[in-house]
Amino acid sequence: MTFRGYSITLGGHVSTAGGIWNAPLRAEKFGFPTFQIFSKNQMQWNAKPILEKDREDFKLKVKERKMEKIMIHASYLLNLGASKELQRKKTLNGFSEEIRRADLLDADYLVIHPGSAGDGTENHAMSNITEAINESFRDDQRVTVLLETAAGQGSNVGYTFEQLAQMIDGVQKKDRVGVCFDTCHVFASGYDIRSKEGYAESMDRLSSTVGLAMLKGMHLNDSKGEKGSRLDRHEQIGKGKLGLEGISNFVTDKRLSKIPMCLETPLGEDGYDRDIENILGILKG
Ligand SMILES: [Zn+2]
Ligand SMILES: [Zn+2]
Repeated sequence: MTFRGYSITLGGHVSTAGGIWNAPLRAEKFGFPTFQIFSKNQMQWNAKPILEKDREDFKLKVKERKMEKIMIHASYLLNLGASKELQRKKTLNGFSEEIRRADLLDADYLVIHPGSAGDGTENHAMSNITEAINESFRDDQRVTVLLETAAGQGSNVGYTFEQLAQMIDGVQKKDRVGVCFDTCHVFASGYDIRSKEGYAESMDRLSSTVGLAMLKGMHLNDSKGEKGSRLDRHEQIGKGKLGLEGISNFVTDKRLSKIPMCLETPLGEDGYDRDIENILGILKG
């Protein structure tokens, strides 16, 4: 796909305020060929059902605009790494519901934070995550679930490529999983993706662990925290510690041109014009 004539599949997280069908209209305002949404309130367990009419409206508006690779970000409350019975049950129910809603909307990808270890070990949490995915996947579902790279804040797992590879390794339906690479998180977790050499090395590492074929989505964000800070604090493009130098590695990498890259910068839609200007500045060279 292209964005304003450049071979980059740039999108942004957009609001569904006023109705879910508004999301493709909001994305269109920026010229995005793709976008990301929450299909429900990301801070609540319960969700209003998606009405048939809203669903048809959404799909039609996506189709008319030839938008593709639509991403849905799952609720922040889910923790697939949980061991405690009650939390695990709630998470599995919530996760299945997210998959169902994503399929209703014909979304391509459901992005989820892998989970946290709490007071258990990371290895235990990672096997819980793999198991939760295996238990939740059914043959009649379509959406591909993307485990998002973590910043390493708190006891969250998935902050190294090796950890992501380990979790994916145990998944039975491998064609239904992948990785969503968040530039802020990967930088915060300690990878030098700002310098040219560091970027090349990090991508080689990703390739030899997770594999580039598993890289299916991206979140394009600058970072308020320094490399290795483990801080999950997004910044506007070019205003953070990753800077235009780091962002340019991603937007000019031809291997990534078909991967949906969604902005999730703090100002949201109010800041996208400026973010886009900065990205176009890089692309124009
Ligand atoms: Zn996320
Ligand atoms: Zn983040």
